[in-house]
Amino acid sequence: MTDFLNYIAGEWVPASTGAWFENRNPADASDLVGRFPRSAAADVDRAVASAVRGFGAWKLLPAPARGDVLRRVGDLLTARKEELADIMTREMGKPLTETRGDVQEGIDTAYYAGTMGRQLFGHTVPSELSNKWAMSFRRPIGVCGLVTPFNFPLAIPTWKSFPALLCGNSVVFKPAEDVPHTVAVLVEVLLEAGVHPEAVQLVHGFGEEVGKALVSHPDVPVISFTGSTETGSLVGETCGRMHKRLSLEMGGKNAQIVLDDANLDLALEGVLWGAFGTTGQRCTATSRLILQDGIHDRFLDRLVTAATALRLGDGRKDGTDVGPVINESARDKIETYVQIGRDAGNTLVAGGQRATGGVLDYGTFYQPTIFAGVKQGDRIEQEEIFGPVLSVIKVADADEAFRVNNGVKYGLSSSLYTSNVNLAFRALNELDNGITYVNAPTIGAEAHMPFGGVKQTGNGHREGGWEVYDFYSETKVGYIDYSGRLQRAQIDNY
Ligand code: NAD
Repeated sequence: MTDFLNYIAGEWVPASTGAWFENRNPADASDLVGRFPRSAAADVDRAVASAVRGFGAWKLLPAPARGDVLRRVGDLLTARKEELADIMTREMGKPLTETRGDVQEGIDTAYYAGTMGRQLFGHTVPSELSNKWAMSFRRPIGVCGLVTPFNFPLAIPTWKSFPALLCGNSVVFKPAEDVPHTVAVLVEVLLEAGVHPEAVQLVHGFGEEVGKALVSHPDVPVISFTGSTETGSLVGETCGRMHKRLSLEMGGKNAQIVLDDANLDLALEGVLWGAFGTTGQRCTATSRLILQDGIHDRFLDRLVTAATALRLGDGRKDGTDVGPVINESARDKIETYVQIGRDAGNTLVAGGQRATGGVLDYGTFYQPTIFAGVKQGDRIEQEEIFGPVLSVIKVADADEAFRVNNGVKYGLSSSLYTSNVNLAFRALNELDNGITYVNAPTIGAEAHMPFGGVKQTGNGHREGGWEVYDFYSETKVGYIDYSGRLQRAQIDNY
């Protein structure tokens, strides 16, 4: 039995409660990854008090030197890539090819952060008054509380913590309870690379206990949350009341549109990867497929054949295309939605059941599932299921496809397969999503580009790329008047 610890105030410690929770491999429930501290508000208090001290010290290091530390983080993650991929697959199930990609995203984010140490630009602009300078620059803010989901155990914590640290803040991690091991290794890497030992804290535990305590802590002015829209609403209420800076990245109901003039081979590969990669548990997963009527029947036939042939299994074994879903309650939710689809008269054309037999009996597997004949407004077309369930909607033309795409409360990602360049550009303009791909699936964000969604997927901030550095720093303006007299702006010069 391996017991893991919190990292608080420069030490690896158990929870103040003395309680633990288990982390098991979703591909094999008999495989216990370890026990993790079931922490409480008192642990969050200690972590935040230490992070306040850590902030005081870490912010004094010049930004280029903080960038050097983050570059070392990239080197260390590179050296531990295989180990981390294996840890991640064991605790959350997606195949090793995908968890290697998850680590690579962290590596890319670290090297990008390294370069940003020399690029925290402000502006220097002419003052409207003579003998006076006007400039803006960026300051760190303080302790950042980082609450993360299970589906990208490494990448998402790196998207948040690397820019936060680069900007000179300290961070408190609250990883999802299904994937605590990965962030424990990330903390080891940050410390080894030279992040100040009190600038990083890790508090394991449950959302309603540790997450809530962190979000509502008065000494944590910045919260970055990624998770479901429901949890995000709770987090948003607290942060609104407490006037915190908050970034929310939440649910999605992303569509791939395939028009009659599309390259169907490409579109088929795209939807298989988009809908069933990560067992459909990506915020950007393709959960709706919008097919133009000219290709609908033959494309659907090919898709059903290909989806049925996907190989389910342990993501750590060669040849596995699709791993388990994260836990029993996720599988229950999928079952409930499949029943909702059946009850609504949608046509089940693939899957629709738990995947069982042989090694599949040991884990939480669900068959890749496709409903055809889904209508705009059906619940399985509107609500996030977060599993390997795809709803297929038939449309007459691009206008209707765009309307269906936009007819949900979410707005993360969309994809259009077409050979018509005019429609490609129209899609960029007209699809209400933070990201639109043309002739590529709904998944595949790159670390140096802003990432996030519109409508109820987000609250206007972006992760990744250059924009996230604005979130983790405060603009300050400085005026230097060297005229030696009182100069009244807007008055003396007009
Ligand atoms: P979740 O909302 O259940 O949990 C996310 C995190 O919030 C976990 O760490 C959890 O412990 C914590 N939490 C739960 N209750 C809390 C509370 N009351 N206060 C504070 N924290 C609390 O989400 P999940 O099941 O881990 O992840 C799946 C969801 O995340 C999906 O909806 C998916 O679309 C979304 N997601 C979005 C993005 C994006 O960038 N938009 C990326 C990945 C996942």
